[in-house]
Amino acid sequence: MDIRFPSEGMELHSYCGLVFNMPAELIPERLASEIARVGHLSLWEYQHFTNHEHPTIGEEDYAAELELAQGWATALQSAFPDKRFVVEISPFDRTTWYQPLGDAPIDDEEVWELYSPPVCMSGAEMKAGLLEVFSALKTGEGGVGAFTEQQKANFKARTARRGPEGVCEKCGSDQGFSEPTVERAHRGVRMMNCLACEARVVHSTRTIRDRIGF
Ligand SMILES: [Zn+2]
Repeated sequence: MDIRFPSEGMELHSYCGLVFNMPAELIPERLASEIARVGHLSLWEYQHFTNHEHPTIGEEDYAAELELAQGWATALQSAFPDKRFVVEISPFDRTTWYQPLGDAPIDDEEVWELYSPPVCMSGAEMKAGLLEVFSALKTGEGGVGAFTEQQKANFKARTARRGPEGVCEKCGSDQGFSEPTVERAHRGVRMMNCLACEARVVHSTRTIRDRIGF
């Protein structure tokens, strides 16, 4: 099992109009093995899956996501000035990019999640979770969509709720939190402070997408 963690630099190559971050001679074999492993995905979904990384794995520092996304945007634009891409961040979870083919989403998700993804998970837990994902994809039970929904539910179930009625993870107080403010550089993140200990906490997230070359 080969799980790649950030960030191994960009080796952007085009194959039949699709852009992947790997040497051109590896693309056909990699695509064939992904198809065998994951089953049917549309072309943008293959890119979305193949190109993703976890820059904030086990950490709360969201700056790494911004850095990675900005680096990708610059590299994609300079290598393929005539192509369009979407660089996507699911805050504290994953960052990826793809070409906007077919029904690929190109705008931010409208709804803020009430729960945060697992920002407090350790790197080891995250790796174990990824292995679960791969094994479920292999067996194909319920398909990728069903598995993703299940994963989201699992994350929510084991992630402490953060909100006016939540409990502060730092001090345990249930006094609540300040009004959330949107982090300007990272519009998928809202920040709040515990009213008791003033600890800064990340409240909620949504998927954010930047259009490159539109
Ligand atoms: Zn607190």
